Amino acid sequence: MIKNQPIMQLKDVSIVFEKRTGLFSKPTKIKAVNDVSLNINSGEIVALVGESGCGKTTLGKAIAGLLDPAEGQVFFNGIDVKKMNKKQFEEYRNGVQIVQQDSYAALNPARTIYQSLGEPLLHKKIVKDKKEAYERVCELLTTVELTPPEQFINKYPHQLSGGQRQRILMARAISLSPKLIVADEPVSMIDVSLRIAVLNLMARLNKTLGIAFVYITHDLATARYIAKNGKIVVMYLGELIEIGNVIEVIKDPKHPYLQALLSAVPIPNPWIAKQEKELPLKSLDMPSISNPPSGCRFNPRCIYATEKCEIEPPILRQFDNGLIACHNAEKIPKFVLPSIESVTVE
Ligand code: SF4
Repeated sequence: MIKNQPIMQLKDVSIVFEKRTGLFSKPTKIKAVNDVSLNINSGEIVALVGESGCGKTTLGKAIAGLLDPAEGQVFFNGIDVKKMNKKQFEEYRNGVQIVQQDSYAALNPARTIYQSLGEPLLHKKIVKDKKEAYERVCELLTTVELTPPEQFINKYPHQLSGGQRQRILMARAISLSPKLIVADEPVSMIDVSLRIAVLNLMARLNKTLGIAFVYITHDLATARYIAKNGKIVVMYLGELIEIGNVIEVIKDPKHPYLQALLSAVPIPNPWIAKQEKELPLKSLDMPSISNPPSGCRFNPRCIYATEKCEIEPPILRQFDNGLIACHNAEKIPKFVLPSIESVTVE
């Protein structure tokens, strides 16, 4: 596999939902993702970060082919998904897997681990018989460090811990030899003590199997941990606002929204924490995605907003080593980060 080749490309992708406020009311259209362009390279880890409701899960589902864009194009291995033939589309669906946040809901409670993992292998003719399916499931369980596999293979989801169920979801995702896994908040519902182990597992699957990951999170600390050699993509109200190397972006955030997020970091040093600083925001209220502000969507909250920001939406453009969507990036003061050891943005 050649690194740094886009395996997945999104071009000007928008995702629209219809919402009714009453039984007989006319549906209103909500653009949950607006005009997003993004490349994901082979073997790369991309941390997709933003607050709840910013559209990151919707974007993840579009990458995995679970949602159709209303506008724009999605390419897998350079082929437009909408123009794929049956074989190419099957390769895409097998090649991009999703691991969901709620491992309990994602597994059928009435099926054993063998049934959940082995039967799709038989159905897709990846293995030739039940014996081979059993052996392959044992191999997969070993790969995700559920050992000895015989101890887990006949269990039901409720007999496993949250961390173990997440590993089962990883095993199911890798069973189809994917090129890319979209992991949607995979550690947010498991004990803090187990989170690092699941993140390390993802990093190992990335390194040993060359699988690219899109790690969706609201937690900048885990984003930095998992994607330390990869990139961070920051979303705000359905749009991408900053992209760059994760270490560089967190150390030197350019967009005022990301600067504000990082200002909300709890600081472990009580002497620094005592010097309470106001958040660099005009308002703490997040506007509604169903009625986003005109111009730059961040303008009602931005302390650097100018008249132009209220009228003209900024486009994502090259700035220093990354990309940023801000008219005034050149004038925004540098942000100095005290620590991000435990930052979580809700
Ligand atoms: Fe703030 Fe204007 Fe930049 Fe938007 S474009 S982040 S409102 S300065």
